[in-house]
Amino acid sequence: MKTPIILLFIAWLLPLAENQDFKKLRDQMVSTQIERRGVQDAATLAAMRKVERHLFVPSHAVSNAYDDRPLPIGYGQTISQPYIVAYMTEIIKPRPDFRVLEIGTGSGYQAAVLAEIVKEVYTIEIVDALSVQASGRLKKLGYKNVDVKTGDGYYGWKEKAPFDAIVVTAAAEHIPPSLKEQLKDGGKMIIPIGSQFMVQQLMLVEKNGNKFKTSNLMPVRFVPFKRSG
Ligand code: SAH
Repeated sequence: MKTPIILLFIAWLLPLAENQDFKKLRDQMVSTQIERRGVQDAATLAAMRKVERHLFVPSHAVSNAYDDRPLPIGYGQTISQPYIVAYMTEIIKPRPDFRVLEIGTGSGYQAAVLAEIVKEVYTIEIVDALSVQASGRLKKLGYKNVDVKTGDGYYGWKEKAPFDAIVVTAAAEHIPPSLKEQLKDGGKMIIPIGSQFMVQQLMLVEKNGNKFKTSNLMPVRFVPFKRSG
């Protein structure tokens, strides 16, 4: 009767070893893909080291979870490349007292990274199945400061506004006016602008009173911002 005990022990050890491997892959991802490209914010780097990206991708993509690229998550959507997630997180200069709105929940990964740093994350996903899945996943992982809802993020989340920062993870043709309105004075929005088949620009929008300063950051490729109806 010794064998089953040994087998049980091995069965218990295997996931531990696997988690160590994933931890190593995450550390490598941060140093080679993210720090090397210039991301320096300590809170952002710590969150990227902590959030278990392999739990946000479909089971067939787990072995690629820490690759330097976006990955399909079903419904024609993708989880963004790790570097882009880190870059977008750093650029809003996240602080522990922030309330952040994200448009395009997708897998919930960007929301989890933000939730490690800021007080409250509100995130909107237009594909109901993805929204339900991400919401369940984030709950299971213990994130109590993320609120997920299904809807068209074009209109923002008025009841929860204003936000210290807004992170848009789908490429829009223009900056949705409601999102500008729902940004706090002094707040920052990061949004990819451009159509699906053209080069898109990641843009930073900074609100100062009634004035908006916009700057182009870098060319990017995001899935399109869809509209309901
Ligand atoms: N932040 C996500 C990336 C998801 S890709 C992650 O970390 O995994 C962009 C997502 O935006 C897709 O899931 C897409 O369905 C969603 N989306 C597109 N248009 C939208 C809209 N108008 N409102 C809300 N979500 C939208």
